[in-house]
Amino acid sequence: MKYVGAHVSTAGGVENAPLNAKAIGATAFALFTKNQRQWKAKPLTDRSIRRFKENCASAGFTPEQILPHDSYLINLGHPEAEGLKKSRAAFIDEMQRCRQLGLKFLNFHPGSHLKKISEKDCLTRIAESINLALAKTAGVIAVIENTAGQGTNLGYRFEHLAAIIEQVDDQSRVGVCLDTCHTVSAGYDLTTPDGYKDTLKRFEDVVGLSYLKGLHLNDGKKPLGSRVDRHERLGKGTLGLETFRMIMNDARFENMPMILETPEPGSWAEEIRMLMEMIRPK
Ligand SMILES: [Zn+2]
Ligand SMILES: [Zn+2]
Repeated sequence: MKYVGAHVSTAGGVENAPLNAKAIGATAFALFTKNQRQWKAKPLTDRSIRRFKENCASAGFTPEQILPHDSYLINLGHPEAEGLKKSRAAFIDEMQRCRQLGLKFLNFHPGSHLKKISEKDCLTRIAESINLALAKTAGVIAVIENTAGQGTNLGYRFEHLAAIIEQVDDQSRVGVCLDTCHTVSAGYDLTTPDGYKDTLKRFEDVVGLSYLKGLHLNDGKKPLGSRVDRHERLGKGTLGLETFRMIMNDARFENMPMILETPEPGSWAEEIRMLMEMIRPK
């Protein structure tokens, strides 16, 4: 099965996310379990947790189809003690919120060195942050997202992802989410059959497909290797529909959440329908 959805709103409470996803015909979704622009969040109420689970069950979403995303403020590779401490505490809180909601994954951007420490030290710091969080939580898999490599963000080379995973103590609880826009912005082609094949082969060789837990399906505004993170509607950007047609017919992406983060929520239902129609009969 191909599970396709979008990063939906939680306005009014996390329990609304599965309903918002169902309303656009999604079979997967992403959500923030707290306000992504604030450090502190009120704990989830028992009622909210119960209704989230009920709504997921009635709308047909299992934890395998849901890919929560952490706050943009968190930098698990922060070069300074204060920022690192704050980020780690917030990340642990998010892991625990996912656990409370019965979720299986937490997707996050690895971190930034802010030009204050080396890439290598930053990657080690990120792995240590993951180790601390895994030790303090149960069940939830930490899913590292590849980045476009904008600014000082790490995670734009597959080697960065591998270096982090290598230093994680419990590798059964770490995974990767590939964002199509970020992949291309980082310089890995997905737009031609040869480029697509090579990129996935490199991912398999460097990271390993067993770590792949989900995809973000975004077209991009910027060209291959731009290192700029700007999402675009599917088919309107530099990746083009062929990229998504190859993905939708690729057995390696079965049974994992594939999430649109394209800029117009009003187009998600149509984008999901278009993606599902790309699947050729076997
Ligand atoms: Zn993404
Ligand atoms: Zn992005």
